[in-house]
Amino acid sequence: CKINKDEVIGSTCDVTFKEINEINAKIRPDLLSLVHSDFFKYFKLNLYKQCPFWNDNNGYCVNRACAVDVIEDWENLPEYWQPEVLGGLADESVEVDGSKDDECAFLDQLCDKGRNGIPDQPDFNYCDVGDFHNNESVLVDLTANPERFTGYGGDQSSQIWSSIYRENCFSSDHEGQCLAKDAFYRLVSGLHASIGTHLSNDYLNTETAKWGPNLDLFMARVGNFPDRVANIYFNYAVVAKALWKIQPYLAHLDFCNAYHEDVKSMIESVVSNLDSKIFNENLLFQDQISSSLKDNFRTRFKNVTTIMDCVHCDRCRLWGKVQTTGYATGLKILFEIDSEDEAARQNVVDKLTKYELIALFNTFDRLSKSIESINNFEKMYNEKVQST
Ligand code: FAD
Repeated sequence: CKINKDEVIGSTCDVTFKEINEINAKIRPDLLSLVHSDFFKYFKLNLYKQCPFWNDNNGYCVNRACAVDVIEDWENLPEYWQPEVLGGLADESVEVDGSKDDECAFLDQLCDKGRNGIPDQPDFNYCDVGDFHNNESVLVDLTANPERFTGYGGDQSSQIWSSIYRENCFSSDHEGQCLAKDAFYRLVSGLHASIGTHLSNDYLNTETAKWGPNLDLFMARVGNFPDRVANIYFNYAVVAKALWKIQPYLAHLDFCNAYHEDVKSMIESVVSNLDSKIFNENLLFQDQISSSLKDNFRTRFKNVTTIMDCVHCDRCRLWGKVQTTGYATGLKILFEIDSEDEAARQNVVDKLTKYELIALFNTFDRLSKSIESINNFEKMYNEKVQST
């Protein structure tokens, strides 16, 4: 890969590839344990939602690899994942006290214990949080449904990717839109490249019937394009900064289970290795004029999360939803938490949902795993070059 690792990643991101590799190597074991913990491994989503953008009933994915195993034996789940504690899976009535977001309170309601009446607030969301409470939503164990090669492709997936890239089409009358446009593109391309890395890293070799890394596929999808590799690092920096920014609030979390202290200490050991200089979000939307640009950015990113409902491969849709929700949460934290205004900051943090937090950490894990895989592929590539 033609990347100089001592160079900075660029566009509002002042750390080098090497520095991110070092951070990643340090936090990888704890992050992996964290996303395998009972609290972080379950995600709720609606796999049956109609695609809202085009009429498309013809798509399907017949491979076994496209399927998602959903949780059906509820009795074996920890207490805080039981339907009644979740507020009723088959119950969409989250509009308690007139506020749809009541269930979303973060610090005191992470375990969905009780709800208090927070009045309606402006929509700060970069994704549709209503999905988590939909009565058709299913609960999925992410560790039982790894992100890997599924065989999904052709016109269907191309259509999805081109619709996503088309969202990056800001009007030209905004000052500073170049940086925002660049950031939007890098986020989407980094997501695309990270998916490409995972499907190459966990690829089904049809001759041996074994799953494993496929170097040629990785090079064709990601490795031969330094900008795509760089965009994965960029996304890592974005999500890392969002986690760094909510660090002061994490100490107050209650994970409602016997392993509470373990989970908290894993979070602490991941987040304490992150540094505020990893990403400078303040350069993106700096002044009053930028606030409409920010609204535009938010709406467009929300569309990207909704486009996931058009993905016909359930496994791909699952990980697409997790990751776009994770980025949406990261963007909300970065751009809506105003460090000057304590009340506004508290308001954004209070309204984060359990699912947004789960998506945020799992997205960070996906990027962390991608970076680990990129370094492994680099070794495989060098060995291959030396042996020829
Ligand atoms: P695609 O990856 O479909 O790309 C289309 C075009 O976009 C390329 O020709 C190229 O010009 C451009 N492009 C490619 N990568 C980038 C990039 N990083 N930045 C900028 N431009 C780029 N498949 C799986 O096997 N497992 C999965 O888990 C999975 N998850 C998916 C999730 C989503 C949301 C979507 C939309 C697709 C998913 N897919 C998954 C399918 C996978 O992403 C590819 O679309 C598929 O493998 C076909 O690849 P392709 O080579 O035809 O090009």
